[in-house]
Amino acid sequence: MCQQHRPIQCIVPPYILSKLITSNEDNASQVKKDVANLILDEQIRSRRRVFSHLKDETRQAAGLTTLKKTSKKIAVNREVYTANSKEVEPGTLVRKEGQAAVKDKDVNNVYDGGGFTWDFYYSLFGRNSIDNKGLKIVQTVHYGKKYDNAFWDGQQMIFGDGDGKIFGSFTEDIDIIGHELTHGVVQYECNLAYKDQSGALNESLADVFGSMIKQRVLNQEVTKADWLIGEKVLLGAKYALRSLKAPGTAYKNHPQLGTDPQPATMAGYTDDPTDNGGVHLNSGIPNHAFYLAAFNIGGYAWEKAGKVWYAALCDNKLVKKSATFADFKNATITYAGKLFKTDKSVEKAVSDAWTAVGV
Ligand SMILES: [Zn+2]
Repeated sequence: MCQQHRPIQCIVPPYILSKLITSNEDNASQVKKDVANLILDEQIRSRRRVFSHLKDETRQAAGLTTLKKTSKKIAVNREVYTANSKEVEPGTLVRKEGQAAVKDKDVNNVYDGGGFTWDFYYSLFGRNSIDNKGLKIVQTVHYGKKYDNAFWDGQQMIFGDGDGKIFGSFTEDIDIIGHELTHGVVQYECNLAYKDQSGALNESLADVFGSMIKQRVLNQEVTKADWLIGEKVLLGAKYALRSLKAPGTAYKNHPQLGTDPQPATMAGYTDDPTDNGGVHLNSGIPNHAFYLAAFNIGGYAWEKAGKVWYAALCDNKLVKKSATFADFKNATITYAGKLFKTDKSVEKAVSDAWTAVGV
């Protein structure tokens, strides 16, 4: 199952996957497929758990450094593979850096999304890829049969095609690609533990940066952005996976999934043992704090609020592995003051945003 005290860094959270199974209970073959997907999720997560705890030297000794880019040149380096509907990774190489677009739309989607993400981190923060040392961005599409998820597995990205009924292809949303690659960035910086508040912060940072990466590609200021995650992958015009602007409203009365259960403030904080203490639910709280801070500052989200959040996530003294919401709040207020010394309105907006969500 996609739950029970194990780290889960898939884009589709366990509360949605559980709903899928219960809504299909009278369809034995569908339940069989859903359960097979969940078992697959668990195998990928095990890999991620192992990879995320390895030091670079250990990776090298274990022969895992084939993915490492050794060139000193600062430039994006992407490789896209297809698993051809099998459960293999990375699979067969179909497009690498500098090569022209291919016929397969999913390959081009993740090639472009990986590029937008690299450019976001490099142009704005001088960060050279996920590890800030030029890590090659490796992505595998068409993973498994009608697989309903996308993952950062600790060293590469994996995308399913979706079942075609509830979920479309997981390569369609730039914010999902940005979300998963940001789990990689977090892994190489504060490496927040994937449970309770630190886990919810980990999920939130992936959403916050995923959303900003989409906003930058679309050239949207805070008032123009939709602040949604996964609006294309969850099929149906009215549905998305999460909303930073209004957590709890990303989908309403969905025939299989019901209504988005995310809280926007600490009043709705929920300690869900099936989701590592509610990491995908409670992420709505810091997500909403970021939205409020960015909205009240105005302009492009990445110019001020994004800078503050990035500085906080890279400070592993202020933001330790087991950081709470309050620790992250304090770190962002500290950096808002440091980075914008002459404009105290930034610090005030950040502080007010956390207060508004009850942290
Ligand atoms: Zn995630």
